[in-house]
Amino acid sequence: MSKTKYIFVTGGVTSSLGKGIISASLGKLLQARGFAVTIQKLDPYINIDPGTLNPYEHGECYVTEDGAETDLDLGHYERFSNVSTSQDNNITTGRIYQSVIDKERRGDYLGSTVQVIPHITDEIKYRIKLLGNRNNYDVVITEIGGTVGDIESLPYIEAVRQMRWEMGNDCIVVHLTLVPYLSAAQELKTKPTQHSVKTLLEQGVQPDIIVCRTEKHLNDNLKKKIALFCNVNKSSVIESIDAETIYDVPLLMKQEGLDTEVLKKLELPADNEPVLDKWKEFLQRYKNPSMEINVALVGKYVELKDAYKSIIEAFIHAGTVNDCRVNLKMVHSQDVEDHGAEKYLSGLDGILVAPGFGSRGIEGKIEAVRYARENKIPFLGICLGMQCAVIEFARNVLGYQKAHSTEFNNKTPFPVIDMMEEQKKISGLGGTMRLGAYPCSIRKESKAFETYRKTEISERHRHRYEFNNKFIDDFTQAGMVLSGINKKDDLVEIIELKDHPWFLGVQFHPEYKSRVAEPHPVFVSFIKAAKTFALQKSGQVKK
Ligand code: GLN
Repeated sequence: MSKTKYIFVTGGVTSSLGKGIISASLGKLLQARGFAVTIQKLDPYINIDPGTLNPYEHGECYVTEDGAETDLDLGHYERFSNVSTSQDNNITTGRIYQSVIDKERRGDYLGSTVQVIPHITDEIKYRIKLLGNRNNYDVVITEIGGTVGDIESLPYIEAVRQMRWEMGNDCIVVHLTLVPYLSAAQELKTKPTQHSVKTLLEQGVQPDIIVCRTEKHLNDNLKKKIALFCNVNKSSVIESIDAETIYDVPLLMKQEGLDTEVLKKLELPADNEPVLDKWKEFLQRYKNPSMEINVALVGKYVELKDAYKSIIEAFIHAGTVNDCRVNLKMVHSQDVEDHGAEKYLSGLDGILVAPGFGSRGIEGKIEAVRYARENKIPFLGICLGMQCAVIEFARNVLGYQKAHSTEFNNKTPFPVIDMMEEQKKISGLGGTMRLGAYPCSIRKESKAFETYRKTEISERHRHRYEFNNKFIDDFTQAGMVLSGINKKDDLVEIIELKDHPWFLGVQFHPEYKSRVAEPHPVFVSFIKAAKTFALQKSGQVKK
């Protein structure tokens, strides 16, 4: 196919309608029909990227192979499509303005007045088309963050208007809205949808397809009404009912004909039925587990599920492989710090200590590690979680009671976790960590090797501190195995314990690479160990 086609996904009425999931589901359906698809997110905030944002503001920061700190929706795109995204898949207003201002300073605009239209909108269009042109995608789906009518999304909607005008049928707009159910009136209401389409029309954009998020089925009359008021065919009004799991959404969208409608509008062939056998098999297993296990996620943003999005999804993938449902118990590390581990962690089948920054609740995380180590409960520490495992070992096994990471105590006599050399010269915060994919060599005869079944792996990183190599001998002599090393930079990437059924700390983030089609081996192996632990406890399997 020669020309790349562009699909824009806008949102109306409220935020949090699930534009990311709809985009990922549409991408999945088109991909399952044989099209090469990528998904891009445009975020209308002024931060250069979400790397400096507090998880309370924006949930998890997702990291790509090439080390971009991005919106968590990119995680959904990868988990659904099994294709890696990159720096080009997430653009913010901050980045758009930064490059326009840089060009202005260089004199690239030859003395003209630099304005939102055309300079900012040109830069937006350039970033959208760049993705399609550079990689020869058949289809680029671009999700526009925020809600239509927001002041900050105006330049993006204007760029969409221009692209539609310039590209005709090579470009369509899918508008996602809410059709609320009023229980007092016992009715679904279309007015908010009409208004949000009107807002789009005021900005010069006629949506081609309207996807309606709803709690109840939309009947034919309702669809007709939306079609009439919003100038679309009835077949272009797509119901998106609340789903049991996000992984149902591609199949629900197929049932509703979203993909065929999109292909019709883009004048693309719809001859091949989407091949979704593997996807359906995954859903079948996910929904019919043979047992349930209980695993703690110890972190400091536990009231906010979005902060650990990729970890939560990785558990779903790994549970499915192991034929079990993983019930996650979110445990606040500050609670463990204040009231002890026993109260929150006893009786569980596995303990994960989460990544993080800053000292709040750090002692609770270290205490959770101790509890897992001493009680031989399967343990996985990710990034800061791995660093906590190193600190715990130093304090309670090596007897270095004042051991710490210099992130939290830069005067500790035992800096077992210390800032990486390359990081010491850096002063700015944005985009300056060790980010993205790095190779790691795995030692044979280790849990890590049993997990990966290979000696060379590559995983994504996001950190400033590392295991302090000055202490290597102390740790290894006392029974800690340094089973994964970055040879080039001499960094410890994986630690484990010999006399423990399953205890792994990883300096990288395996959760970013777990996908429906490829559940991550570290999570799969952790859940397998947790399942065995649960069966042993209940006496179904001998120790
Ligand atoms: N704060 C730690 C560091 O910067 C861990 C980071 C993380 O968990 N992502 O090294």
